Parts: sequence; structure tokens; C-alpha cells
Amino acid sequence: MTTQVTDHRGGVWSIAVPIPDNPLGHTLVHLLETDRGPVLIDTGWDDPDSWDTLVAGVTACGYAVADLHGVLITHHHPDHHGLSAKVREASGAWIAMHAADTAVVRRTREAEPGRWLDYLLAKLTAAGAPEDHLTPLREARTAGRGRRLPGRRAALPDRGIEPGELLDLPGRRLRALWTPGHTPGHVCLHLEERHPAPETAGAAGGRGRLFSGDHLLPGITPHIGLYEDPDDRESTDPLGDYLDSLERVGRLAPAEVLPAHQHAFTDAEGRVGELIAHHEERLSKLRALLREPRTLWQLAVAMEWNRPWDRIPYGSRNIAVSEAEAHLRRLVKLGHAERVPGSDPATYRAV
Ligand SMILES: [Zn+2]
Ligand SMILES: [Zn+2]
Repeated sequence: MTTQVTDHRGGVWSIAVPIPDNPLGHTLVHLLETDRGPVLIDTGWDDPDSWDTLVAGVTACGYAVADLHGVLITHHHPDHHGLSAKVREASGAWIAMHAADTAVVRRTREAEPGRWLDYLLAKLTAAGAPEDHLTPLREARTAGRGRRLPGRRAALPDRGIEPGELLDLPGRRLRALWTPGHTPGHVCLHLEERHPAPETAGAAGGRGRLFSGDHLLPGITPHIGLYEDPDDRESTDPLGDYLDSLERVGRLAPAEVLPAHQHAFTDAEGRVGELIAHHEERLSKLRALLREPRTLWQLAVAMEWNRPWDRIPYGSRNIAVSEAEAHLRRLVKLGHAERVPGSDPATYRAV
């Protein structure tokens, strides 16, 4: 096991905690020193190797896990929130998360196992998914198999993260920014302290640093799908939320971004511009595809992905349909697409 710890100066460190069998490689867990002890931003995937790496990383920063005062979670995904329960158990640290993601954690923990499959089946049927795609889900439902995700054992947070407010961290100025889109309760955390390295930050140093979670990454476009709430009545617009959140982060223009994957980077505004342009291009391509009426499934199949549709694995196709639906909802909200009246499964066309 190699521990990759980076000293970002000014009482900020990052620990690269591995995510098993995942092309992302690792989660960058950040450690922030405060007058009451170190606080973690995210914790990493719940796996013995990842735990050992986290423990070794905290030690390399000059602390013991038992010293940890608190845990701030950017969003509920298992590569960020996975080890929170273990950290709390080992240290007594509190765990804080935005209420909208805490609601997801609670729902996942309490859901009857078949509930997710029922939701997925209903959703894919409405999208016009072919029979051969639905059959495995029906079989799993009949066999009584549920959704087995690490999220079912995830820790319930002890406190909320209030957007816009300074967090109660003695000796630090850290403000929460609600950035929904990737998840409904995603937050970025803005360290409103002058950047400690003038040579990196330049004139922007006074605008501090941003812990961006999965919201803003240097070389990856975060997945924007649906919020996957079985009670969602098609009212949410995650892509719209995401683009709004991106613009707000761009206006903040922090001197440096400390994301939860890949590496730290400068020029947040430039990266925000690239991501907005990417989604705008995607939306206009989708609108072009809808000159011919299509179901959501047909739209997903016709869209551009990182590989041809027939090479996309089964589970990833479901994720692709969610992403297609997020884009479609945005087009409908903007008045650029509409449902063909009376169509079943629902068919959409450009307006
Ligand atoms: Zn995520
Ligand atoms: Zn992530």
C-alpha cells in the first residue's frame, strides 16, 4: 500500500484513497486543520484497503484518526461518504451533509429492497426500453433480489450543511455553497482565506480555494442524470440545477480548485466555461436528433457516448438513459422539445 499525501499548505492536505475496481482510481480526501482538531472533507470508499490508506494518510499529516473532529461530506455517493461511519466510530467525529443528500441516504437505508427495481422497471418501460433489456430486471424482481449497494449501510449524518453560511470551524473561514446537479444536495466548500502560495495563485489569491467535490473536475464531466427519487414526479431539472451551480462557482473565481478526483487546478472560470459549452453542444445535438420523434430509449441509443451503444454494459445503459432524460427535461423546460400528445411509450419531438 502506498500512501499519496499532498501538503497543499495553510493547514490543508489531500489523501488519495483508492476506489477498488474503478477507472477513477481514487478519491482525494482533504484534511483541514482547525483549532478543535482536523476535519475531513469526504472519506472514501468503504473497503479495507481504502480504510488503511485513509488511516495511514491521516498519520502522515501528523494526526491520529482518533483526533478527527468532524467530517464534511460534499455528496452522498459511496466514493465520498463510504467510510464516514468508520471514521465516526473510530473518533467520535460528527458527520455533516446537506439536507437534500441526507434525505437520499435515509431513503436508501430504509427502502424495501424491491423498491428500486420497481422504480427502475417502471421508468425504463415508460422510456420505451426493449423487452430484452427489461427481462433481467423482471427476473431479479421475481427472485426477490434487491438493490445491493454500499449505500444501504451508509452513515446517517449528525448535522446539516447550511448553504451560504460559514461552518462552525474555529480558526477557519469555510463557507458552504449549495451546488445541486450531480446530486440534489451536493455542496462545494469555499475556503475564504488568502491562498498560501502567491506563485500559484497570483492576483486571485484573495479569492481563496474551493473544495469542489465532483461538481468541478479538471478532466471529467461529472454524470448528470436524474436524482433517482422514486417519488419524483418529473418536476426536477438536474441539468438546469447543475448549469446554474456551475455559473455561480465560475463567478466565485477561486484561486485554486481542490476537487475530489484527479488533481488540484487553477482557472476555475475557464473550466466552468468548458463544461457549460459541453452541455450546450450536447443539448443542441439532442434537439437535432428530435427532428425525428423518438422515445427516451431511442434517444439514448442515438446519442453520442464514450463508446458505441452495443458496447455499453447493461448497468451503464440505465445510467445513460438517466443522463438522456436529464437533457431531455432541460430541452422541454426551455421549450425546445415536447411530448407527442397521446404517445405511449412517450415520444418526444423538437419544437
Ligand atoms: Zn459523485
Ligand atoms: Zn466521486
